[in-house]
Amino acid sequence: MHVESGTPQSATPQPAARLARAAVRRGTPPDLLCDCALFLDIDGTLIDLAPTPEHVLVDDDIARLLPALGRLLGGAVALITGRTIRDADALFPGLGFPVAGQHGLERRSADGVLHAHGEGPPGYNWLHGELKALCERHDGLWLEAKGATLGLHYRLAPGLASYVHRTVRAMVSTLGAAGAEWKLQPGKSIIEIKPAGRDKGAAILDYMSEPPFAGRLPVFVGDDRTDEFGFTAITVLGGWAVKVGPGKTHANYRLRDVAAVRRWLTALLLRCTVGIEHAR
Ligand SMILES: [Mg+2]
Repeated sequence: MHVESGTPQSATPQPAARLARAAVRRGTPPDLLCDCALFLDIDGTLIDLAPTPEHVLVDDDIARLLPALGRLLGGAVALITGRTIRDADALFPGLGFPVAGQHGLERRSADGVLHAHGEGPPGYNWLHGELKALCERHDGLWLEAKGATLGLHYRLAPGLASYVHRTVRAMVSTLGAAGAEWKLQPGKSIIEIKPAGRDKGAAILDYMSEPPFAGRLPVFVGDDRTDEFGFTAITVLGGWAVKVGPGKTHANYRLRDVAAVRRWLTALLLRCTVGIEHAR
């Protein structure tokens, strides 16, 4: 594989379509290039899942890897997550990456500007109250109130999964009948309730119209059903969509687990470092 030598930040981006022609559906992705724009989900992609989002472990390896990638790619690395931006910043203190939070409802661009996408339909407080009461009635349910979206976790009570989905679906139908457009977004042991109209794919499209992402080959790595919106957007753009773990997907590549993602990302750093050393 060709490795760019010299200063990676100055690498001239190549047309995405030409690079994407080498795609092999659902195999291991090719080696990353220094001219990509990298979009990364957090939970289940960069760090292993935990019983609740607040119990995840951010180890030294990933804490060191992310800023190094940011420098190598000229700042074209963004976190695309269901967490809030505030929560993502708390996980990686001092990183300051562009972040799309709450599935794209809030977005911090590379210039640090915060983009909020409307207040959402009415009904948030009602939903919050109903879900909170549901959690109080059943051990093992945990509500994550994010300000614009709500996440109901049932990883500690897997036997309640179908009941939770049925109950939340009924709540959203009630709001829909009242004219409030809320959307259900199932994930791994979580059901999220969010305003209709924004998703991870929309956030990626926004980034790709802005520097330093525009003109680069877009690459998105994610593990969950919520990431399928991002995979679809990436595919439309001719980029590389990488699904982590098993399951049906619209992605065109796959990596086995978090460890494989980290090895793949680290390999880019090693190759480019070697390239720079050879150029001296
Ligand atoms: Mg995830």
